[in-house]
Amino acid sequence: MGIALASEERLASLGTGEPALATLCSHSSLQIFHGARAEGFRTIGISVGAPHRFYEAFPKARPDEFLQVPAAREIVGLAERLRREGAIIVPHGSFVEYVGPEAFQALEVPVFGNRAVIGWESDREKERQWLEGAGVRMPRRFETAGEVDGPVIVKYYGAKGGKGFYLAKNREALATFRPSGPHVIQEYVLGTRYYVHFFYSPLHRDGYRVGEGSLELLGMDRRDEANIDELYKLGAQEELLKAGIRPTFVVTGNVPVVLRESLLPQIFEIGARIVERSIELFGGMVGPFCVEGIMTEELEFKVFEISTRIVAGTNLFVNGSPYSDLTEPGLSMGRRIAREVRAARRAGRLAEILS
Ligand code: AMP
Repeated sequence: MGIALASEERLASLGTGEPALATLCSHSSLQIFHGARAEGFRTIGISVGAPHRFYEAFPKARPDEFLQVPAAREIVGLAERLRREGAIIVPHGSFVEYVGPEAFQALEVPVFGNRAVIGWESDREKERQWLEGAGVRMPRRFETAGEVDGPVIVKYYGAKGGKGFYLAKNREALATFRPSGPHVIQEYVLGTRYYVHFFYSPLHRDGYRVGEGSLELLGMDRRDEANIDELYKLGAQEELLKAGIRPTFVVTGNVPVVLRESLLPQIFEIGARIVERSIELFGGMVGPFCVEGIMTEELEFKVFEISTRIVAGTNLFVNGSPYSDLTEPGLSMGRRIAREVRAARRAGRLAEILS
């Protein structure tokens, strides 16, 4: 047996019946419901206000039942109902942001994955401690503007959707920057971005072994980010600034990518080290996580962020990806999650994948 993340008390609501998989109606909910249904689970959509009509357009991804809340934060008020339904919550990339970290931690409903990860992911300082402790290369961080020796990206704490970033080509350009709040100055890494979709199973004993379990690579994407992605068409930064146009990184969509095959060993090693360190720090990450970084021309991957839940880039691969097809044709991340619940339930090991 591996590390138990959930107490017996937390799992009591699951009883012996078939659980239902529930998530907030947003982000990657279509894929989560689609995957859960494909594995034979009942599905519950938690909707803020009336459910969006677009679910009617996707019969294979429509949840069996909708529960409504006036605001995402009020999901706590649904806890009793969700327990009665034997629900397991599958949190996605927007879940914690909308519900709030405190409400999420306090939610008395079994959750897929280890909720202790929140404390390490939502704080950029602790995230760096985790990743650097894992021996993962990250963009350099400058304590003062005087140390800057190249292009930098300035990130305000809690900047959402990439807004609140500032780019400077060099130290001189940074000198004109007047910060309006707490921020970090980071090396602006030149290269190409990759968002790598991993799944860590503490149960699976085959494949690429890490810890007691195994690491799977299910896909990769690159994010379309407005307005930075098209900004080059307007010419040089200084000219743009004069015109009052500042770059932003607001995600508007995703495109599929694959990596040079010779770079896969590096990517797997990074994923494995992040998982190993998470086991030492807080009992381990379970399920989907995304390593987000930039491959430089020296072919060194520098990680600027990690997301520890299913990311929206996986929505590209509802019917499998060039990677997941090599494990099992047609396997989506949503379906992989449902499959892990099924396997754990059969083996009597739900405490190791739920919290
Ligand atoms: P983040 O909020 O850290 O996920 O960053 C949002 C976006 O900013 C990323 O998707 C990248 O496009 C860009 N970005 C973040 N950090 C860096 C960096 N150190 N160098 C270059 N681009 C970055």
